[in-house]
Amino acid sequence: SHTSTISTHPGNKVSSGLIDYQSTTFVYSQKITQTLESVFQLNEFRLCQEGVINAAVDGRDIVCVMPTGGGKSLTYQLPAVMGRGLTIVISPLLALIWDQVRAMKEIGVECVMMTGATSTSEQNEIYERMESGSSRGGKEIRLCYVTPEKVSKSKRLISTLEKVNENGRLRRFVIDEAHCCSQLGHDFRPDYKKLSMLKTLFPRVPIQAVTATLSSKTLPDLLKILRLGPITDGRAAKTTGTVFFSAPLFRPNLHYKVLPKPSNAKSAIAAMGDWIQKNHPGQSGIIYCLSKKDAETVAEELREWSGGDIKTGIYHAGVEDYEKERIHVRWREGKVNCICATIAFGLGIDKGDVRYMSKSLEGYYQETGRAGRDGQDSDCVLFYRGQDAARLSSLIYGDVDGSGKLQEMLRFAQDLKTCRKVAFAKYFSASAHLSASAWDAPDALLSSSGSTSTCGICDNCLRDPASILTKDVTVETWKILKVAQYVQNEGGRVTLANLSDLVRGLGGGMFGVVGGGEGKKGKRKLNGEKEKVDLESLGGKITLGKDDTEALLIHLVLLGYLADSYHATAYSVNVYIVPSDMAVRLTRLRLGDVQAGRSVKVECTFPAPEPKKTKGKKARKADEEDGEDDDDLEDEGDEGIGNAK
Ligand code: ADP
Ligand code: MG
Repeated sequence: SHTSTISTHPGNKVSSGLIDYQSTTFVYSQKITQTLESVFQLNEFRLCQEGVINAAVDGRDIVCVMPTGGGKSLTYQLPAVMGRGLTIVISPLLALIWDQVRAMKEIGVECVMMTGATSTSEQNEIYERMESGSSRGGKEIRLCYVTPEKVSKSKRLISTLEKVNENGRLRRFVIDEAHCCSQLGHDFRPDYKKLSMLKTLFPRVPIQAVTATLSSKTLPDLLKILRLGPITDGRAAKTTGTVFFSAPLFRPNLHYKVLPKPSNAKSAIAAMGDWIQKNHPGQSGIIYCLSKKDAETVAEELREWSGGDIKTGIYHAGVEDYEKERIHVRWREGKVNCICATIAFGLGIDKGDVRYMSKSLEGYYQETGRAGRDGQDSDCVLFYRGQDAARLSSLIYGDVDGSGKLQEMLRFAQDLKTCRKVAFAKYFSASAHLSASAWDAPDALLSSSGSTSTCGICDNCLRDPASILTKDVTVETWKILKVAQYVQNEGGRVTLANLSDLVRGLGGGMFGVVGGGEGKKGKRKLNGEKEKVDLESLGGKITLGKDDTEALLIHLVLLGYLADSYHATAYSVNVYIVPSDMAVRLTRLRLGDVQAGRSVKVECTFPAPEPKKTKGKKARKADEEDGEDDDDLEDEGDEGIGNAK
């Protein structure tokens, strides 16, 4: 039987009546290992899997935090298979459910799913089988995957579960991606909140909540919503309460790097294609894109660029369900190796050998977890360019705390020195109240202090210090802020790209001005009038290259000298760059004083210049000017959400 008492815990190494669930000497330990080998065909447990399974078999409520790809599914699948009875798994995404049900069927586990798409006749059959158990000769259902909507909306499901429970065969509720319960987290789903009803209706049925992202802020919320008791440490657990497990969040097989994204779309595709073919030819990968349109364009162009060698597929929220499933199958079979996706793809997807990833900025922290789930070395690449920031800003302007999150992402992308693991640790300790040491230490989620060691495998750890250059850019900053102030005083508006050109003396020094008249619906609009900035009176142009200038502008946004300013039109939201109040601290000084070092010092790190290429004047000129057409903002509504690149 799966119920046991304290006295059956010979593995209890901890004195004073506490249970060490990580130990391997429980009465059922041998059976667990046998099941691991015979059913799942695996040899050993990872991370805290065995501890979680021990606690699950012991019938405890559990909260388990393990990194994506850590192997959370096994912690409820194995116990479900070991004893009799029915385990209900609540999981947020159809793709995820499909994947798991398929995997269970492949190894011969009786497993079904019930979603909004399940036909009535199929549902009837499942309900009947649930109620009857194995009594009608058919095999007993061990695992039933359902969506949270199904649980909150289907009275029939609940009443069936009540009957199964009365017969003593309702084993466990599993809440996968449990962070979706909390409104304080990043992926709240209202139907998850209704899962409160489970403990109310089925007080004796254990709940196992698993997730990769939980913080000291969202954990109490989760416990409250699921009506779980106070947590107790899995290695020295009290006999009551919710047994808590967590594994280190850092995954040493993921190699993080940021690569420069060329300025025009064609070269960007070529850069990604080159990188893939050089590092992971024929292997699996995901390219996360910012928009549906991006995903489609990148897929199409990468395929063309590679002459069909890179087999791309498209996956986003707008793709029909059957098509999504087809892509999954083709991806698993290796007929598609590179999925161009939006974040709709991959929440919980299980494919071991994802070897490369590249994307633009948003959501990087969560998405990279989908690489290397088989434990082999994998790359998580961010193709980044300063100008992306403007587009990202226009995408996140409405999100709560969106701009704060974006700034963190930009800081990460622009940083050429800090170990990526340390950067993640810092980010999560600040934004999610997660201890920095959670990256190394299993139980650190609950303490609020600690630090982490460097990873030794990311781009910044491996970078040759001679390949970067930290420059004093105080004078350049002064000039940039002067130009930005001039534009603002004249009633003009500039995007990041405009400003970058202006300060470098390009584009004829022209910028767009907001007219005195009112546009439609009272909105002021750029009236097509242009004005010229007299650079000489503002200290002259700066001598940095295009990429370095863009990097510096973002750096100044991050330092607070410049800021984003949002302007909505009927069709889109435009993002302009304006000087902040802080800019005055520098610009009220005279250039001579700044040059003489009588001001605060502004520093910025750039890639060291490569040995000079011999390039024709024409080609250079094309490089310089390219991008101008991309971001020219002659009339509002030109750029923004709808204008994906
Ligand atoms: P997640 O924690 O993200 O839900 P999954 O449960 O999907 O992770 O597991 C990720 C991958 O790791 C799967 O391919 C799974 O088969 C594999 N896996 C899980 N546990 C083990 C183990 N003990 N040994 C080897 N592979 C494992
Ligand atoms: Mg999972």
